[in-house]
Amino acid sequence: MTYPGTILKAWQLFAKKELGQNFLADPKTAEMIVKRACITENDTVLEIGSGLGALTVHAAKKTRSFYAVEKDSRLITLLKNELLAAGIDHVQPINQDIFKVDLQKLAQGKKMVIMGNLPYNISSQVLFKLVENREVVDRAVLMFQKELAERITAKPGEKAYGRLSAVMQYCSETRTIADVAPHLFFPKPKVESRVVEVTFFHDTPFSKRDEAFLFKVIKAAFSKRRKTLRNSLGGSEIGISPVEAARLLDMAGIDPTRRAETLDPKEFTKLTEIIQQFVKEP
Ligand code: SAM
Repeated sequence: MTYPGTILKAWQLFAKKELGQNFLADPKTAEMIVKRACITENDTVLEIGSGLGALTVHAAKKTRSFYAVEKDSRLITLLKNELLAAGIDHVQPINQDIFKVDLQKLAQGKKMVIMGNLPYNISSQVLFKLVENREVVDRAVLMFQKELAERITAKPGEKAYGRLSAVMQYCSETRTIADVAPHLFFPKPKVESRVVEVTFFHDTPFSKRDEAFLFKVIKAAFSKRRKTLRNSLGGSEIGISPVEAARLLDMAGIDPTRRAETLDPKEFTKLTEIIQQFVKEP
């Protein structure tokens, strides 16, 4: 793999900050991440933000079915060159914004493995897209800014535990795979990075429509972090008053003076079932 700075210079290009272009510049780290991603020849892999192919060249050797999504059209030619130099001819580059990609259509009824070294500014949005489309996603191995990774894996009561943690842990198991230091990227970012594996559960308690309500409850609960659940849920967009919220929390066996950051996904599930019933038949 050619050093990213050398490739960009040769093509008189520069890394775009707004697209989070901090390219992985260390082949050993790329190899280690791909090894820990445990891709098998039966997997269909979709990489988000292939860039100059640092992960692509290693990951594509594991399976014949590989999509490389990259928004920046300037990089597609460079990616193709890197793949050619590595003797790889089966990767399908897709020059598109990941938010415009129809995952259901690409998956063709199979479950995909998602990979990527994600730009910080789209990381949570990407996770929500994967949650929404998880019937075609088996698992995802993604690199995040370390703080965001901590939010994904944080347990109730921990400082980093929030809306993203509750949503992700409701529908998946999350595991830290590796930490990656700033000097291993070009250009060097100011922050540390962490790779996390997200494995989606086969079954979750709610239908899609009811799940949307669960996510609404979680959002409302965390919207006023410092307030008690009685006050964050009461008067929120879910349409109950603080008095009703206190009664429903009691019914769910949850002390109304607790705060959202202490509730685990199971408690959010129980509470949602009770609120939902009340909202339908007050
Ligand atoms: N995978 C490469 C690596 O590890 O060196 C590049 C990682 S770089 C952090 C993020 C990549 O995502 C960039 O190539 C950037 O152009 C691309 N990107 C940014 N926003 C995107 C989007 N919405 N859809 C698809 N790709 C995007």
